[in-house]
Amino acid sequence: MMKYIVVTGGVMSGLGKGITMASIGRILKNRGYNIVPIKIDPYINIDAGTMNPFQHGEVYVLGDGAEVDLDLGHYERFMDVELGREHNITTGIIYSAVIERERKGEYLGQTVQIIPHVTNEIKARIREVAEKSGADVCLVEIGGTVGDIESMPFLEAVRQMQGEENGNDFLFVHVTLVPFTLLSEPKTKPTQHSVKALRELGLQPDIIVCRCEKALKEDVKAKIGMFCNVKKEAVISAPDAGDIYEVPLLLEQEGIAEYTMRKLQLTQLTEEDHEWAQMVERRKKSSEGGKLCVALVGKYAELEDSYLSIKEAIKHAATELGCNVETKWIEAEDLEDVDGLDPFFEDVQGILVPGGFGVRGVEGKINAIAYAREHKIPFLGLCFGFQLAVIEAARNIAGLKDAHSSEHCETRHPVIDLLEEQQEVDEMGGTMRLGDYEVFIRKDTLAERIYGKNKIVERHRHRYEVNPAYIEQIERDGLIFSGSDRSGMRMEIVEIDGHPFFFATQFHREFKSRPNKPSPPFKAFLEACLRQ
Ligand code: GLN
Repeated sequence: MMKYIVVTGGVMSGLGKGITMASIGRILKNRGYNIVPIKIDPYINIDAGTMNPFQHGEVYVLGDGAEVDLDLGHYERFMDVELGREHNITTGIIYSAVIERERKGEYLGQTVQIIPHVTNEIKARIREVAEKSGADVCLVEIGGTVGDIESMPFLEAVRQMQGEENGNDFLFVHVTLVPFTLLSEPKTKPTQHSVKALRELGLQPDIIVCRCEKALKEDVKAKIGMFCNVKKEAVISAPDAGDIYEVPLLLEQEGIAEYTMRKLQLTQLTEEDHEWAQMVERRKKSSEGGKLCVALVGKYAELEDSYLSIKEAIKHAATELGCNVETKWIEAEDLEDVDGLDPFFEDVQGILVPGGFGVRGVEGKINAIAYAREHKIPFLGLCFGFQLAVIEAARNIAGLKDAHSSEHCETRHPVIDLLEEQQEVDEMGGTMRLGDYEVFIRKDTLAERIYGKNKIVERHRHRYEVNPAYIEQIERDGLIFSGSDRSGMRMEIVEIDGHPFFFATQFHREFKSRPNKPSPPFKAFLEACLRQ
């Protein structure tokens, strides 16, 4: 029988529901369970692909090319699973399926309504994903905050589902906030109110996870339990953690594992896996290790969530190397029209230029890359960072002064361009190269040393490519294209021989990094920084 755990949130957004659910998943995985997570996003967008990272944080890309909410990144990293398009359900997906069915006449003349047609569609999707996965436990996170109009159909659907499934196959976890007053007094009223809102919808939480500045005392838990009809031991205190990877351990200490297993009648399947706890130990040690400072030159530098996976990938590599990496966020535009970049980079051991779209900040990023190349500072470029490294070399080494990407302007030397086959489709997202593609690595290159093999599969999200007409010219002058697709027409990796570390990839290696399996290019980049 499939077991379901549904995670909802109250009081306000941004409490870390995603991390909470990812942590519960990890805890069950450590006990031998196969887990399948689903994120429900109650917005009308079909997917996150068209959304501004300023508002929503990074667009996370899955192996099958789906552009999804960044919580799926947390799930993949915490549970060490590979997810696909079907694991992110949005209002847009549900409604377009229902409307399509209506147009085909499949509702046989009925009035098509939220209940039951929309809710049936939601339930069917959740069950289908759960069953197809072959997992033991399906975790469903409902985005948004209880009380929002948007999430109502989803809450109603899980309410119905609970009635249809066996009592001990369904568990509700509600994540709320317990704020502290200036006098350090914890306030339970917001939690009481959000549970009340949940109950008005016919949902009673089994577990309440209270996000708070510091751990809650027993009497506070008892009070929450009493007002919210939840056992005291099911009121879990989740104080702010210095490190998100500690959250599974903190929740365990609070007894969430025992309570969840008892409620769902699960028994421990395997001996407990301590790999995660060991990784957290290593992370603690590495925070006392050698210090590194890496500059991240981006456009949304002020909003760190837009580069979330990169931030995590750096952490994973640092954990393995036992060093402590600080990221210096630099706004690309600040590097334009200035008299020299020394003041920005004198205290850093490495420079990273991440992915991006649009023209703003482009020249600043190119300046940063030129600086890294000339001053022999380790450089890692990802996607847009790769394309700009090629433009920089074309301009400053190959002497093509007006080299540019045709994404940004018409130029005599579009070294980054759309390939012919792409030019025909111009619908939003229609031409993007998304998800897993094979990359073939040339022998005797840095790329080969980093990966230790000649064929890899990496995730992509880009529209423009290195223009094949310029490859020879750029290579002649020092850049090496050490990875490409099978045809050899699409360049995937670029490096410079004789530089301490100059490595850039068209693909996004940050999406496949795991806390205990760091990404090879990130690890090699930090190793080079350590040597500085
Ligand atoms: N804007 C570039 C392109 O579309 C790079 C995209 C990215 O960095 N994700 O190809």
